[in-house]
Amino acid sequence: LLSYLEAILRVYNRHGRRDNLNKARIKVLVKSLGVARFREQVEEEWRLGRARAARLQASEVERVRSFFRPQPYETLEDFDASAGREPAFQAWYRYNTRPHRVSGYRAVFVSLKAHGQNPGDMSCEQMEAVAALAERVSFGLIRATHNQNLLLADVRQSELYEVWRELQRHQLAMPNIGTLTDMIACPGLDFCSLANAGTLAVAKQIQERFDDLDYLYDLGDIEIKMSGCMNACGHHHVGHIGILGVDKHGEEWYQITLGGSANGFTALGEVIGPSVPKSEVAATIERIVELYRTLRAEGERFIDTLRRVGLAPFKESAYATHPAAA
Ligand code: SF4
Repeated sequence: LLSYLEAILRVYNRHGRRDNLNKARIKVLVKSLGVARFREQVEEEWRLGRARAARLQASEVERVRSFFRPQPYETLEDFDASAGREPAFQAWYRYNTRPHRVSGYRAVFVSLKAHGQNPGDMSCEQMEAVAALAERVSFGLIRATHNQNLLLADVRQSELYEVWRELQRHQLAMPNIGTLTDMIACPGLDFCSLANAGTLAVAKQIQERFDDLDYLYDLGDIEIKMSGCMNACGHHHVGHIGILGVDKHGEEWYQITLGGSANGFTALGEVIGPSVPKSEVAATIERIVELYRTLRAEGERFIDTLRRVGLAPFKESAYATHPAAA
């Protein structure tokens, strides 16, 4: 594997567009050479360099493994920590915690998706609070997730209620993990010099339009991923609903893709049609998810309904009352 990866890097190093920051990407090279030609070059490079490639030594594997020893878990029994608690805690327990393979423990998401806040952002006070909490309840470890949340991986079930209260105090307990507003958004035009369009204002627009937890729970598992340009730091290609910011004559417009997935059945989303203006993004998404609500079978997730019925009805509904697609 290492020697093959090295061959890919060597081909990129030789032919990649290092002269142009915007094009210094392997995907740009693959597109310009074509997949077949790129593969041919990698195979040839691998054939020539394989024998002299660095080998992964068992001692190195062991050295790295030593950083990932199991935590000193206590011997505890599982129990339902949400039983008899108030509905707000039960919702948080259901959406923001996950089972643990060690009995008596649970993994806890620290939601960085409170409505009104930029997805994935934290204040320094929140960081201090999570650091102190991790020190106290999760072996001093915090994991950052690719979905722009944090995870306390090893929390004793008996401490979940207190953890929830502490996270609530710091606006870090929004019970929306895995729902539509648990979206990924890159920094976009507000912070990134490569951006074509803003993402954070669009995220806010979506949060405002979908600010009803019962409605979000009814929609279930829907992943929105948003990027401010084709570099795709927000992974929009693999969002169930992908949003890509594009620049049209100095104005911010947004291309919508549907059907992407990075889990299980991996797929790239398909562009549904013309871009929509900034003010229309959340309304377009609402029309799409409303159609899902009418088409879904009992218990069927958005992505599964989409795969079953195809893109056409969703395209039609996305533009149903659209005034200004271009
Ligand atoms: S995808 Fe977003 S963060 Fe990445 S380069 Fe484009 S605007 Fe910047």
